[in-house]
Amino acid sequence: MHEFNPEVEALADDILRYSLLRLRQEPPLDHAKTPEELLEVAGNTITDKGLGGKEALRIFTDVLAPSCLSTDHPSYLAFIPSAPSEHATLFDLVVGASAIYGGSWLEGAGAVFAENQALRWISDLAGLPESAGGVFVQGGTIGNLSALVAARHTAREKAKSEGKKVDRWVIVASNQAHSSIKSAAEVMDCEVLFANADEDLVLRASSVDAAIEKYMQENPSHQVFALVGTAGSTNLGIIDDLDSLGDYANKNGIWFHVDGAYGLAALCAPSVRQLFNGVEKCDSMIVDPHKWLFAPFDACALIYRNPALGKAAHTQHASYLDTLEDENEFNPSDYAIHLTRRPRGLPFWFSLAANGSKAYSEAVEDTINTAKIAVRLINEHPNLELLMDPQLSIVAFTRNGWSAKQYQEWSDKLLDDQIAFVTPSAHQGKPILRFAIVNPWTSEKELTQILATL
Ligand SMILES: *Cc1c(COP(=O)(O)O)cnc(C)c1O
Repeated sequence: MHEFNPEVEALADDILRYSLLRLRQEPPLDHAKTPEELLEVAGNTITDKGLGGKEALRIFTDVLAPSCLSTDHPSYLAFIPSAPSEHATLFDLVVGASAIYGGSWLEGAGAVFAENQALRWISDLAGLPESAGGVFVQGGTIGNLSALVAARHTAREKAKSEGKKVDRWVIVASNQAHSSIKSAAEVMDCEVLFANADEDLVLRASSVDAAIEKYMQENPSHQVFALVGTAGSTNLGIIDDLDSLGDYANKNGIWFHVDGAYGLAALCAPSVRQLFNGVEKCDSMIVDPHKWLFAPFDACALIYRNPALGKAAHTQHASYLDTLEDENEFNPSDYAIHLTRRPRGLPFWFSLAANGSKAYSEAVEDTINTAKIAVRLINEHPNLELLMDPQLSIVAFTRNGWSAKQYQEWSDKLLDDQIAFVTPSAHQGKPILRFAIVNPWTSEKELTQILATL
C-alpha cells in the first residue's frame, strides 16, 4: 500500500487524466441520488481484499461524482457557489501530495510563510495595521467561532483583573447575521442579542446602542463582549454600517468582529470598496476564499488586529507540544480551534502569486457586472420583481403570483432538467429567488436561459 509500484504508476496516470479532464471541460451540474440508488449501483465498496485502485476510481467517476453537484458550474447560483481558479485547483493536488503539517513553523515554515503573505494581502486591503495576522481555518463557521472565543477570552481576563463578576456573556449582531453566529454562541454558552437592522437591512450603531441599553437595564449582571458586523449578508449581500459599528465598539471597549465570509472578497474590487469603510476598525475579521476568492474548499481567512489575543485564547499546552513554544516562531495552530491542520491557504496563495492581485480585482468586478446584467434582465421580465438593488453580487427577486410550493417545484425541475441550480429563499416571511454570482463563467447566456423558465 505504501509502494510506488507499476500498478500505482498506472493508477496515477488515470487519476491525473481524470483530474485534468474535470478541469478542462465544463462539468455537468449533476444530481444527488438516494442512498438506496447509490448502493444499488456502487455496492458495498469496503471489502477485505479491496477493489483495487482502478475499480474504486471507476466507481467514483461513474457513480459517485455524478451524484455530487458541480458547485463551480456557471449555472450553479444557489447558496454561495464556488469558482476555484485553474491555478488554485491544480495546486491543491500539490498540497495533497506534499504531506505538509501546517500547524507549526518548525514543521511547515515555507507553507506558513506563503499563507501569511496571502493573509497580509487581505489585511492590507482591509487597512489593518502591519501587526495584524491570523490563520486559514476550515470555514466561516469555525472562523467566527474562533474569533468570538478570542473576544470572550480577552473580556474575561479583563473582568477577572478588575474583580468584576459577569453572569452571562453577550454577543450583539444584526438580525440579518449568519446562522453561524447563533451556533457559535450556543457552543460558547453565550447569549446573542439581535439588534434590528434598519429598513434597508443595514445594521447601524444607533440601533445597537438602543438594543444594548434596553438589554442591560433588564440584565445588569450580563456583559456585552463582542459586536458582529456582517460585510455581505448571505441571503442578500447587504453590508452593515461598519464605520459606525466600529466606532461604537471601540468607544465602548467591545470587540468588533466583521463577518465577511462572502462579501469581504470584494475588498479588492474598487467599484465597491467604499462600502466596507470602517472594516479597518475591527479586532478580527473573516473572509472565505472558497466563496468569492476563487479557492477550492475549504478555506477561511481569519485575521486578528492583535494576533497575541488570538494566541492567548487558543494555544494548546501539553508536554509533547512545549517544544513548539518558541516566542519568535509563528505557529498557525495557536490562532483558532484546531491543532493539526492542512495548509489550506496554499491553493489560494499559489493562484494569487501566479495571477497577481489585479486578476483578482478584475474577476470580482466581472461578477459584480454580471449581477448588474441580472438586474437588467429581471427588470425587463414581465413576471418578475427585483427585491432590491444589489450592493454586491447577490440578486434577489420574486415571481409574481407564486406560492412557496411553486418556487420549490420550479427549482426542482430546473435541476432535473440540468438547466441550473437555483434554490428558493425567503425574505420577511415571503419566498424569494436569488442568484449568488461568484463565478466569472456565469454570463448573460446562463441567466437568460434560467429566466426564460419563469
Ligand atoms: C457562508 C457564510 C458563513 C459560514 O461560512 P462556512 O465557510 O460555510 O462555514 C458565515 N458568515 C457568512 C456571512 C457567510 O456567508
